[in-house]
Amino acid sequence: RKNPMNELLQNPVFQMACQQYDATADFLQIPQDERERCKWPKRLITVAVPVRMDDGRVEVFAGHRVQHHLTLGPTKGGLRYSPEVSIGEVAALAIWMSWKCALVNLPFGGAKGGVRCDPRQLSLREMEQLTRRYTAEMIPFIGTHTDVMAPDMGTNEQVMAWMMDTYSSHAGHSVPGIVTGKPVLLGGSQGRKEATGRGVAFLVNRAVEHLKIAADFRVIIQGFGNVGFYAAASLRKYGARVTGISDYYSAIYNEKGIDLEAASEHIQKHHSLMGFQGGDEISNAELLLQECEVLIPAAIERVIDKHNAGKIKCRILAEAANGPTTFEADAILKERADIFVIPDILCNSGGVIVSYFEWVQDLQNFFWSEVEVYDRLYRILQTVFDLVMKEAKMHQIDHRTAALAIGIKRVASAKKLRGLFP
Ligand code: NAD
Repeated sequence: RKNPMNELLQNPVFQMACQQYDATADFLQIPQDERERCKWPKRLITVAVPVRMDDGRVEVFAGHRVQHHLTLGPTKGGLRYSPEVSIGEVAALAIWMSWKCALVNLPFGGAKGGVRCDPRQLSLREMEQLTRRYTAEMIPFIGTHTDVMAPDMGTNEQVMAWMMDTYSSHAGHSVPGIVTGKPVLLGGSQGRKEATGRGVAFLVNRAVEHLKIAADFRVIIQGFGNVGFYAAASLRKYGARVTGISDYYSAIYNEKGIDLEAASEHIQKHHSLMGFQGGDEISNAELLLQECEVLIPAAIERVIDKHNAGKIKCRILAEAANGPTTFEADAILKERADIFVIPDILCNSGGVIVSYFEWVQDLQNFFWSEVEVYDRLYRILQTVFDLVMKEAKMHQIDHRTAALAIGIKRVASAKKLRGLFP
C-alpha cells in the first residue's frame, strides 16, 4: 500500500486546495505560523471496510474521513462513493468545506468522507453492507457534536438512512442528528434533497440580473445527478433553456432545449443518459465548449483546466461541483473579463446551509416547513452573494479570491481568539 502522507501531498486536488489557500493567505497577509495552523487538516482517518460481496468473496475497501478544523463547532461534510476517491481528494474537499462553512457563517469546521468503490457496480445489498461497516468503523470519530456527514457524489438519502440506523443501533436510541440529507420521515429537513441545486439556480439568477442577461438564456450542465437535475429544473422556472446535460457515460446537446423529465426518466430506467434521444450525443469535453450563457460543472473536480479555460463560451461559470476549476485555469479566467465566475464555495453552499438547518431541527426535535427553509436559505444566499461582490469590488480581486478571503479570514481569526493550547 502507498504511504498515505505521500499520497496526500502528491495528490493534484490536494495541491490545488493548498495553492488556492496559499494565494489567499498571501492576499490576507496571514503571518507564517498562523498560516500553517489554518491549512493542515486536524484529523485524517483511514479505515479498512471489509464487505462480503454477492458472489461470496470478501472485498476490503478503503474508507476515509478528514476533519479539517474543529475551531468553530463540529465538522460537517459529505460522504462520497467513487472509484477516484483518495485521501488527498478527501482532504482537499474537507478544506474547501471549511472555507465554505465560514463564508456562509455556519458554526462548523469542514470535513469530507469517501469510500473508494464503484457504486455503479455494487448491488443494493453490497452498498448497504459497505455503508454500515464504514459507519461502524467511524463511530469513535463522529457524533452530533463532533462530525456530521451528508450525501455527496454516489451517495443519497438511503445511504444516510443506513448510516443513521447503524449509529443509532450502537447508541441504543435514535440519533437523527448524526447525518443530514436523510429522508424527511427519519428527521430529514424539508427541501434538503433539492437545496444544493435550487441554491445554484438562485445564485445564477442573481448573476443573470446583475449582468442584465435576457430571458430564455441557455444553460449547459455537466453532471445530471442530484445537484445538476435540481439546478436545471429550478433554472427553467427562472426562464432558462437547458441546452446541454451530461453524466459519466454520455453528453446530450439540443439547441432547442432538453426535456428534463424525459432525460430523468431515461436515467431511472437505464441508469445512464446513454441512448437518450432528446438531442445529439456529443462528448463531455465537447459539451463544455458549446456556446451558452451559463455553464454549470456539477460533477467532479478539475474539469476546467489550462487546455479549455481559454475556449469555454459562456457568460457565467457557476461552479456547482467542488473544485471544478484548476489553479492554472483560474489564472486564465482572471484575464477573461467576459466570464463572471460564481465560485464553488459560494455556488453550492445551499446544500450545507440546509444541512445546518436539518441539524438544528434534529437537535431541537422541532421541524420547519419548506417555505421557512427556503425563505431562510435565500436570505443567506442573497447576503453572501452581495458580500462577495462587495469584497471583490473593494479590493479589485476576482470572485474566488474574495469568497476564499472571507472564509479563511474568519477561520484564522477564530483560531487566534481561541489561542494555542500548549
Ligand atoms: P450525484 O452522484 O448525484 O451526481 C453526479 C453526476 O455527475 C452524475 O450524473 C454522474 O454520472 C456525473 N459524473 C460523475 N463522474 C463524471 C465524469 N467524470 N464526467 C462527467 N460526469 C460525471 O452527485 P451530486 O450530489 O449531484 O454531486 C455533484 C457535485 O456537486 C460534486 O462535486 C459534489 O461534491 C458537489 N456538491 C454536492 C452537494 C450535495 O448536496 N449533493 C453539495 C455541495 C456540492
